[in-house]
Amino acid sequence: MPLYVHKYGGTSVGSIERIRHISAQIKVAKEAGDNIIVVVSAMVGETNRLVSLCNSFELNDDLAMREQDAVLASGEQAAAGLTTLALAEIGVRARSFTGLQAGIITDSTHGKARIVDIDTSPLRTALGAGDVPVVAGFQGATASGSIATLGRGGSDTTAVALAAAMAADECRIFTDVDGIYTTDPRICDKARLLPSITLEEMLEMASLGSKVLQTRAVEFAGKYRVPLRVLSSMHANSCGTLVHYKENIMEQPIVTGIAFNRDEAKITLIGVPDRPGIARCILRAVADVNINVDMIVQNIGSDGYTDFSFTVHRSDYETAMRVMQHTATDISAGSVVGNANIVKVSVVGIGMKSHTGVASTMFQALAEKDINIQMISTSEVKISTVIDEQYLETAVRVLHDAFELDKGVHEDK
Ligand code: ADP
Ligand code: ASP
Ligand code: MG
Repeated sequence: MPLYVHKYGGTSVGSIERIRHISAQIKVAKEAGDNIIVVVSAMVGETNRLVSLCNSFELNDDLAMREQDAVLASGEQAAAGLTTLALAEIGVRARSFTGLQAGIITDSTHGKARIVDIDTSPLRTALGAGDVPVVAGFQGATASGSIATLGRGGSDTTAVALAAAMAADECRIFTDVDGIYTTDPRICDKARLLPSITLEEMLEMASLGSKVLQTRAVEFAGKYRVPLRVLSSMHANSCGTLVHYKENIMEQPIVTGIAFNRDEAKITLIGVPDRPGIARCILRAVADVNINVDMIVQNIGSDGYTDFSFTVHRSDYETAMRVMQHTATDISAGSVVGNANIVKVSVVGIGMKSHTGVASTMFQALAEKDINIQMISTSEVKISTVIDEQYLETAVRVLHDAFELDKGVHEDK
């Protein structure tokens, strides 16, 4: 009997009606002879609601992190129980599992824990008894038994990790769109559904903001070569998008997609003394408060001074600004200015490795719409720009057109 892991996201379990809808699909698959492990997210909006309840308390020590995880994990647990009830109602034998009950052991980084081990025996026993295990996503337990969550979007990682541990035939991520598109179809109506995407491209797209899959889930899939597919929970029989592991595909498009990230903020230190060690001082101060820096730009110095800019996650903006006010005094910089109304828009494609001209096409398209580029960073397979957030949607659409992504695989332009 083939084994599939089915993961259903927040919208797909967003109401009792939707839970009944996916339960009927699970029943059809089960009756067709598949073994199925179900992973569910919290009902849409629930995790945000729980986060804001936790934010009522001004604590951010270890205890608060542990207890916040206990609160957040309850969203998925409720969805797992409700899905199990819906399955039972239509005569499908099922049993819900918390992450701990499903044998998922994590490290102790509360809020962003990593899975370190999975004891598959509870799920194997359930499958052996003919039950459909319904696992609460986004969570596991530390070695000492505390509940730990896997970071926002982490139910994808639960699903991929269980598929790897159980050697499933495929991990199917059911969501509220038909699969992986050239860009977010909610922003660009010309976005094209991709029948397949390479792991490397998906990893870039996810890490640059395409939240259709959590980055860690894609990394996990790559590490264990998990067959991974993203498809719609709304329409049965859609094939969705397969993430595959082939390299050196002959007809590799130059640009595969456009990703964007709204959760960015920029900080600039103006009039920084232009001497060795200054960048280290600035970045060390940010690292000391556990803030990750994304892009970094240092201007060419003049008269012994320079400007130094970097971006951080928007939720870290206020802390980073506070820290930089102190650092600016320590290193005798002129002033600190911040902007939390910026976004990062990136063009992604493995085909870029062997083609030139992508940057000029990108910058020209943005210039034609009078969109000012504030920062640029490039790698072999992506070009990212920071722009004002008000231009995000225009930028995505104009870039989608400029690279003719609605048309499919194309040759040099
Ligand atoms: P779920 O709750 O099922 O995990 P998410 O909201 O996390 O769903 O992810 C699905 C969403 O990802 C879509 O509704 C879509 O708006 C967004 N998205 C962003 N980029 C893409 C893309 N390239 N292809 C498909 N969806 C994308
Ligand atoms: N419910 C969690 C979140 O909203 C995890 C998930 O949906 O994958 O981030
Ligand atoms: Mg998600």
